[in-house]
Amino acid sequence: MDYYSNQITRLIEELSKLPGIGAKSAQRLAFHIINMPKEQVERLSNTMVNAKAQVRYCKECFTLTDQDLCPICSSGKRDHQTIMVVENPRDLAAYEKTGKYDGVYHVLHGAISPMLGIGPGEIKLKELMQRLQGDVKEVIIATNSSLEGETTAMYISKLIKPTGITVSRIASGVPVGGDLEYIDEVTLLRALEGRVQL
Ligand code: ZN
Repeated sequence: MDYYSNQITRLIEELSKLPGIGAKSAQRLAFHIINMPKEQVERLSNTMVNAKAQVRYCKECFTLTDQDLCPICSSGKRDHQTIMVVENPRDLAAYEKTGKYDGVYHVLHGAISPMLGIGPGEIKLKELMQRLQGDVKEVIIATNSSLEGETTAMYISKLIKPTGITVSRIASGVPVGGDLEYIDEVTLLRALEGRVQL
């Protein structure tokens, strides 16, 4: 890529490190950015820097937020006795889009994967167990239906059962290996409503 100036080459290189951006897209984006008005470029870069500086984990559910508590955890309209356990904030967003779930969440930030060497200590599981010391009636496990998601679900249900808290698993019907975020709202709702007690 020596035929571009150094600055453009650097921009293309940085952009191509982003997920889903191949060399061609990175080149297209780089030229688009160069042609954007200066103010717009500044707004874009400031927004990225500020988001990175201010976004943190919610103290309660560990989703991404810019407050101590996310809007869901701080809402008096949500049922704080029902906790849905998801793998990542994108899964939370998928369930929120249905607008039909009024409980709260717990974001694990991953799933147990012996193959990848990710054990229970690497995800926010201890934090979930701490939350269960409070007033909780039901834990709905909504990890993905991948091998890792199922392993995690089994592990969590075994941990929680002795506490006497109801543990349920969202119904299958969510395609195997399917990431929750790509599943349509109707399927998600059906999976939630058809959840089975473990
Ligand atoms: Zn929260």
